[in-house]
Amino acid sequence: MLSKLKKGLDYLKSDPAAPLIFLSILFGIFTFFILDEPLWAHYIWFATLILGGLPIVYHTVKGMLKGQFASDIVALLAIITAIFLSQAFAGAVVVLMQSGGEALERFGLRKASRSLDELLKRAPKKARRKTNSDSFEEIDVKEVNIEDILLVRPGEMIPVDGTITQGKTQIDDSAITGEPLAKEKGEGGELLSGSINVTGAIEMKALKKSEESQYAQIVKLVQKAEEEKAPIQRLADRYAIFFTPLTLFMALVGYLVTNEFVTVLSVLVVATPCPLILATPLAIICGINRSAKEGIIVKGGAPLEQIASTEALFFDKTGTLTKGTPSIEKVIALQGKSEEEVLQIAASIEQFSTHSIAKSILEKAKEKNLSLLEAKDFVEVPGESVSAKISGGNYTISSYKGDENLEVQKELKQGAIAVSISSQEKRIGLILMKDALRENVKDTILSLQKMGVKKIMMLTGDTKKTAEYIAKEASITDVASELKPDQKVEIIKQNEKEFKVLTMVGDGINDAPALATATVGIAMGERGAAISAEAADIVILVDDLNKVTTSLKIGKRTLKIAKESIFIGIGLSFLLMVIACTGRIVPAVGALLQEVIDVSVILNALRVLKK
Ligand code: ADP
Ligand code: MG
Repeated sequence: MLSKLKKGLDYLKSDPAAPLIFLSILFGIFTFFILDEPLWAHYIWFATLILGGLPIVYHTVKGMLKGQFASDIVALLAIITAIFLSQAFAGAVVVLMQSGGEALERFGLRKASRSLDELLKRAPKKARRKTNSDSFEEIDVKEVNIEDILLVRPGEMIPVDGTITQGKTQIDDSAITGEPLAKEKGEGGELLSGSINVTGAIEMKALKKSEESQYAQIVKLVQKAEEEKAPIQRLADRYAIFFTPLTLFMALVGYLVTNEFVTVLSVLVVATPCPLILATPLAIICGINRSAKEGIIVKGGAPLEQIASTEALFFDKTGTLTKGTPSIEKVIALQGKSEEEVLQIAASIEQFSTHSIAKSILEKAKEKNLSLLEAKDFVEVPGESVSAKISGGNYTISSYKGDENLEVQKELKQGAIAVSISSQEKRIGLILMKDALRENVKDTILSLQKMGVKKIMMLTGDTKKTAEYIAKEASITDVASELKPDQKVEIIKQNEKEFKVLTMVGDGINDAPALATATVGIAMGERGAAISAEAADIVILVDDLNKVTTSLKIGKRTLKIAKESIFIGIGLSFLLMVIACTGRIVPAVGALLQEVIDVSVILNALRVLKK
């Protein structure tokens, strides 16, 4: 509590204008009521108005010269009129509102960049590597090589991605995935860099270098989001287009009705559209924060606004609707090869691929103690095939599309994945795999439909039979299969005419172009390829498809609350304007009433943070 207070004070010291203005207005009130010195109070407020108001006038006029006509203009006119009419108190309150609004906007932006600093500050720095003689040396995390055995003691951070080779412990990865509960992990358990080892001492094998590990990937993502940071959207400025002329018109009406210039000031003061300026950015900052708590990184305000009105949703199959951890069911050897040979050749090629199929094949080969052969000239066609040269021969692994084997056909119709290994056009073997559907796919699809998504479609690089089975399981009726990455893009483009907002959810390298094409791209980040996370606007760090629904919900709620705030703000301001026109509100009271509207609108926007 105390440290929070201190942080707050430190922050105020770094951006002191608004708090100073607030204090001097209070000082004026004290002088007026307690010391009973109205004239001195007037001087204090007037000084506040001039000193605090001039920078605002300067910025706004500069903006206007650049052609920016925002809602600040009403505030500008109010300040100038207040100086002109010597209405010190009302003017000072307008200055407070305006500088408070600007400070809040800066606060939001700074908080965003601070989260990056904090992320960098807590990056893993050191690792403890096992030397030959069974002792450990402390090294820089950048020096860790793949296959190194590292010791991680309780309380220490996992330095690079890897697996546990010895020991059992609780792992807390809340910093990376947002999941609050520590997980129990034993030998073979996967570790992500940046998570915390809580209870036991473990030995782990490094599977990635530091710069390829999860933590570095997240930092890169956030960095990129920062660089492209869309200026916080001023949805408000769209409303300003009619609000500003309306205000000026009402001010004129007020003057004509009462024949007093001070009425003009009253109208301007109650109209100062602080809720317009603040409600949206504040709601959006809260929405992004709220998402982050759920393990969803939203790269800016625009995707949060857009995802709320998703009309068409496209899902990739492998790794998105399915778990992306296929288990090998069967190896079929042809052309006089043995099962071991087929698996050995396949694994030797797949060692260079990051695809989930590759991972499973490699694990199976290791399980059978098969050594890897030297493979050269590896080429991957994303979503289609991999090939390489092994002792002079060309080998390719790709989707099995033949229909000669009846048993295989039956398996495919039940959702199995089959790849064919061939050498110079001759098939030497098949590998059959099963990749289970994620647990909550059906519920996710159902709730998305309930939320107003009109079209849900599966786009996959896999074969028709497999695709159709999985789609049926997931209760998705629209399926396109055997697609290359650019064909996924094509299908999304074809739907642009019919649907305004299209969202694509994917995980692989082959999804990256589609993720970039869709209005909103969502990447399944935990196991997915780094490049898909780069191409996406939203990255789900938790391995849970239902977070797509959560993201939509947060987006809808944010937008609803932002709009609510704007309409309440405009409505109340308009009501006060009408009353002010008749000369029944003096500027000082008008300023206080407007302040009440501001506070209620701000409190309303903060509701986004709650569940
Ligand atoms: P999806 O679009 O459903 O995610 P995949 O990324 O699994 O599709 O790619 C589609 C198909 O391409 C796979 O089912 C597989 O047959 C083939 N394929 C892609 N990458 C590889 C690989 N590294 N090894 C073997 N087959 C692959
Ligand atoms: Mg995929």
